[in-house]
Amino acid sequence: MLMRIGGADVASLDDTWIAVTNPATGEQIDRVPSGSSDDVGRAVDAAEAASAGWKKKMIRDRGNILFHAAEEVREQHKDLARLLTMEQGKPLRESIDEVRGYANILEFYAGISASRPGDLIRLGTSGDALVSHEPLGICGAIIPWNMPVLIMGWKVGPALLAGNTMVLKPASTTPLTNIRLGQILEASGLPAGVLNIVTGPGEVVGESLVRHPQIRKISFTGNCATGRRIRELSTTHLKQLTLELGGSDPMIVMDDADIDKAVVGALRGRFYNAGQTCTAVKRLFVHDAIAAVFTQKLKRRIEELKIGNGLDAGIDMGPLNSFAQRERISQLVDATRDGGEGTILTGGCRLDDAPCDRGLFYRPTLVADVAPAGRLMNEEVFGPVLPVMPVPDLDTAIREANRTRYGLGASVWTTRLHTAKRAFDEINAGIVWVNRHLTVPPEIPFGGMNESGIGRENGIHALDSYSRTKTLFLNW
Ligand code: NDP
Repeated sequence: MLMRIGGADVASLDDTWIAVTNPATGEQIDRVPSGSSDDVGRAVDAAEAASAGWKKKMIRDRGNILFHAAEEVREQHKDLARLLTMEQGKPLRESIDEVRGYANILEFYAGISASRPGDLIRLGTSGDALVSHEPLGICGAIIPWNMPVLIMGWKVGPALLAGNTMVLKPASTTPLTNIRLGQILEASGLPAGVLNIVTGPGEVVGESLVRHPQIRKISFTGNCATGRRIRELSTTHLKQLTLELGGSDPMIVMDDADIDKAVVGALRGRFYNAGQTCTAVKRLFVHDAIAAVFTQKLKRRIEELKIGNGLDAGIDMGPLNSFAQRERISQLVDATRDGGEGTILTGGCRLDDAPCDRGLFYRPTLVADVAPAGRLMNEEVFGPVLPVMPVPDLDTAIREANRTRYGLGASVWTTRLHTAKRAFDEINAGIVWVNRHLTVPPEIPFGGMNESGIGRENGIHALDSYSRTKTLFLNW
């Protein structure tokens, strides 16, 4: 597949390529151009040329284009989901959820386009002030490989509705569905050059976006180290930033919780997308009184998970997305076992049985007796590995929940209102779920505290991060 610049399919200027492979089979499914900083320059020129016309459109007309694109995505959802599974690995059912989630996001922003007024401030005898929301100009979006479709929606929806143009860089292992979604937006009426998609390595294409003086904002989702690098580079031109970085979400299950519901919550919260979700359940704290029975039930459910090629029927968990990703998980679990930092209750190794012998599979893993200061309880573990720790009370659970440098999400499972309120008040996280984990509908703001990031995506709040206010002072 080619990248999209100025409404056209283009190869990179120096004609180099990146192979895209299916992580379940190791087979190459396509290739995309390995873009350069010159390609980013071409995309910025196209975005600049489209900027004035796009900004002048009525917000309602911009919203209509998003709405038509959402309709078209729903129409094509099966093909899009298949493509996503082939490049990313997740089960088809999860890809369908993600593609529909993307359509929901576009519809959400299309729907609020009529309710984005400016403000009139009356200043008595001094006059009046009109405050309007202006687009920032050209925005850069850098997309990760774990949920490339949903996260594209979180960036493209508010940025385009607010009147910005955009240059988007997909992750190198999952560029194909992003490109198809760009084509669908254009076929739905998006003028050429409003959204440009440049594929290529992060260090080249990503950094060129961040360094480019005409790009006014970068929205990035990915790991903390990359986020830090982007923040440093972006200071030269004082760019605005939204950084959605890692997390190590705690899930706390109290003794009054509905155990079976909480077991399902932990199972889905950790093993959805093979554990490669920023707000996955990454540390599980269970009250002493129910820890043994809870852990036993969870272990049984984990062992029932059907692992395999996401395109096959009935699969619960696919492969990890890349060789590097599986190596990271494998080494971390080995180090945990060898260093005496945990006991593997189930899993703890690669899955090399046929037909999974050529793919990047890792067995879903449950770890007990974890050392509080160990890596599993302090680093972001981006794969199907769940450490469980019994806790005597809520105070201990909250203290442990707040132990890491992250603060993305957290959940508490309880039937006591007071426990839920304390968790909400005292856990450092951008979102605290009660009796639920993972769900992020388009209406709610999403983002992290501490080292989990800067800014919020999703919801009406995200529009502010793609706009600047401008004031007209009228001295009548
Ligand atoms: P990265 O942060 O490296 O990748 C995310 C995106 O950033 C990709 O598009 C990547 O491009 C791009 N990128 C990489 N380096 C740069 C750079 N110097 N400047 C600008 N853009 C860059 O994540 P990884 O793929 O390395 O994943 C590693 C870890 O990150 C995971 O194990 C997980 O812990 C965390 N992660 C967290 C996510 C979250 O949602 N919280 C999402 C993804 C990862 P390219 O693909 O070409 O390298």
